[in-house]
Amino acid sequence: MLKQRTDLLIAGTHLISMDPAVGDIPRADLLVRDGRIADVGPHVANREIGDVEIIDGAGTVTLPGFVDTHWHLWNSLLRGTVGDRPGTDYFAVKRALAPHFEVDDFYWAARLGLAEAVGGGITTVHNFDHNVRGPEDADANIQAHLDSGLRGRFSYGPPDSAPPEVTNDLVDLAALRTRWPAERLDGRLDFGIAVRGPYRTPPDVYEREWQVARSLGLPITMHCDRCLREEGCRSCGLVRLEELGLLGEDVQIIHAVHAGEEDIRALARTRTRVSLSPMTEMRTMGFPLVTELLDAGVPVSLSLDTLAMPTSADVLGHLRTIVSVEAARTGSGTVTPRRLLQMATIDGAKDLGLGDVTGSLTPGKRADITIMRSSDINLVLSGDPVEALVYTGQIDNIDTVIADGRILKRHGRLSLADGVRNPVAVSAARRDALLRRAAAAGDWQWSAPATTTTDPR
Ligand SMILES: [Zn+2]
Repeated sequence: MLKQRTDLLIAGTHLISMDPAVGDIPRADLLVRDGRIADVGPHVANREIGDVEIIDGAGTVTLPGFVDTHWHLWNSLLRGTVGDRPGTDYFAVKRALAPHFEVDDFYWAARLGLAEAVGGGITTVHNFDHNVRGPEDADANIQAHLDSGLRGRFSYGPPDSAPPEVTNDLVDLAALRTRWPAERLDGRLDFGIAVRGPYRTPPDVYEREWQVARSLGLPITMHCDRCLREEGCRSCGLVRLEELGLLGEDVQIIHAVHAGEEDIRALARTRTRVSLSPMTEMRTMGFPLVTELLDAGVPVSLSLDTLAMPTSADVLGHLRTIVSVEAARTGSGTVTPRRLLQMATIDGAKDLGLGDVTGSLTPGKRADITIMRSSDINLVLSGDPVEALVYTGQIDNIDTVIADGRILKRHGRLSLADGVRNPVAVSAARRDALLRRAAAAGDWQWSAPATTTTDPR
């Protein structure tokens, strides 16, 4: 059950709108009504605004909720199982445990990931599901997304480790909008297809997937990690994808850390979207080409990828890492704190076709909002607020998160509707049971990591 939407006024906050027409306003009010940003400006509180909840914005910075454009929510339960021991790398663990997921595991894995998203100020998530074993798995993910209160896209993929000749379930993909008509989606979710593409499937498979997706008007997302673990790779074959007609504004390419200059030009020519997940890329592939892609005019957004890898929903921590890595790697100055914040908000929204819906604090857009305490120890001596957030901001500073007008985090804690089970506690129990089933089947030989469920936040 979802919380009710709250009509509210954030009064006297420092507003970082990420909309050039609105700009940054040092002492602003922001009015939310019926889930929408009704008004923004210095003196909204002085007008007749009726009976609304007041959030005191003194000592806060208010910015758009972050947008994550590539996240495998289903394997959030694998956090803590991936490690440095032989046989516990991400891909080995994923292959071993994926077959043992029950439908409820998909639901609670997605709820766990989305709860962490809320904690980190993320209000929109693209769920790239590469373990759909049947319609009920897809439905569990979709229901979890709706129950979380967040916005996003569900992209329908194949079962994990499916043989190359297996095509996505295109019949069920086409049925999604019948099974999940607009009135069930609360205006917060839409669909896409997650494909393996020419790197991993034969032409009859990927050509059919592209053709059906485009006939249904569904966006296409695909990893581009062909050179993974290959030495000296200087191309990831995107020119060939352009020649095959597989790139375009309806296509999102993920990673592309091995893209050469010609690949990048192909992305720019076709306005293909690129989602970078710097934390997982630097762990397993190489440096994300943030500067090169931006300099070429490629639309770039940011993503977590998976909670199973060594990462968390600490968006500001990721931005801080990127700005430092790019300074060390290129020294070009392209990647500034504000440019990164733009990638994590409005550019992510545009990647998902939601540029008119979210990603900036623009009157008329849906109320997806993060409020941070700038009076905390690590922010109080700040100069430029955007630089301060990116250079020293932390999850602990995130006081309030509002998604589609619903308050999902308040005073630093998740805010659940009465009677709703806490996804953090349920997910911990489900993960332990998953490991026991896998161990009984001989697919998991390590002892289950200890989980802590006391006072989950
Ligand atoms: Zn991925």
